[in-house]
Amino acid sequence: MAVIKSVDAKSVLDSRKEKTVYVSVKTDVGVFGASSPNGKSKGKYEARSYVKSLEEDIKMLKKFSAYFSSEKIEKFDDLRRVEDIVDRQIGANTLFALESAILKALAKEKKKEIWKLINPKAMRFPRLVGNCIGGGKHSKGINSRKPDFQEFLLIPNMKSVKENWEKNKKLKEEARYLLKIHDKKFEGKKNDEDAWNTSMNEKEVFDVLKELNIPFGTDVAASSFFKRKKYSYENPMLKRTEEEQFEYVSNLIKNFGLFYIEDPFDEEDFENFAKLLKKFQNSLIVGDDLTVTNYKRLERAIKEKSINAIIVKPNQTGSLLEVQKVCELALKNNIKIIFSHRSGETGETILADLAFGFGADFFKCGITGKEREAKIKRLIQIEKSFKN
Ligand code: PEP
Ligand code: MG
Repeated sequence: MAVIKSVDAKSVLDSRKEKTVYVSVKTDVGVFGASSPNGKSKGKYEARSYVKSLEEDIKMLKKFSAYFSSEKIEKFDDLRRVEDIVDRQIGANTLFALESAILKALAKEKKKEIWKLINPKAMRFPRLVGNCIGGGKHSKGINSRKPDFQEFLLIPNMKSVKENWEKNKKLKEEARYLLKIHDKKFEGKKNDEDAWNTSMNEKEVFDVLKELNIPFGTDVAASSFFKRKKYSYENPMLKRTEEEQFEYVSNLIKNFGLFYIEDPFDEEDFENFAKLLKKFQNSLIVGDDLTVTNYKRLERAIKEKSINAIIVKPNQTGSLLEVQKVCELALKNNIKIIFSHRSGETGETILADLAFGFGADFFKCGITGKEREAKIKRLIQIEKSFKN
């Protein structure tokens, strides 16, 4: 049992050098801390990162500190009491960091790995989804030319996490070589998620990825360029109606054999997601901005048969109890679970424990960059512990 004595918070910098929240929890056996990542292409229906601002959240949590003194945490479900205390007075980033820090304290107290607090019988490892080339809101592009789609993802299927990661690192280097040949403007520079910046458009990028001979996919992040009922592309500059977007995306899946497509339509458009899923049962049709790790949005997506896979980003909701509910509902309905990093990341590794504990099918966490590598390495460490 972990007995909380006090809680504290401060701001730290993420991989984009933007401020994020770090929460620490003091117990009998030590001080435990955790930070939250930051999204940039956020879903409209995500919970707010902070109630008013990061600074106000920090002040608010400090005020709550006294209410935590002698709070006893014995198991994962006791996070309910934590949520009752803070009662929505802090935002999702702050709540996620707080609950993560408490789980770390509990794990230490119980001499258990964090994932074991969630599911001691967990044994299935997620497959890696690695961002290799970037566009959209995460990329500056080259001379302001870039793909309109946000992420181009490699999804190898080797026997272990370790082998999948090795494969992705190798393929990312191969992609650099191919980009050098095909993109006259390529400079070898990387974006927010440490993926290659390119001046090419999505079709040209898919042509490059095809040469890698590996299952691949994309995060269209379509809400980020849906304006006044049209998808506004810049590379090349053209607008697509909702029907045209459906046709375009369908052709891409068919012509390039896409294994995975995330947010191909606006976050309000459950209907076109459903039409696409009906047409392409063998690809992963993934909701991120559509479902925002929210139980009710997932319920609707299931009812309307909009997706067969869901992105889980714990700080889209903040509550790990909600994350648990979302994962249970997904599992029951045969929806694949993809735990995911954010574009602004910290060295925090709890995402790997959460993914493994909650039975994720996929782990979307970049390929390189120290913040993302830390999480993949943690997953490999868990994998190793099964081999000993
Ligand atoms: C995403 O859209 O999948 C993503 C990681 O973006 P962000 O973290 O910027 O919201
Ligand atoms: Mg996304």
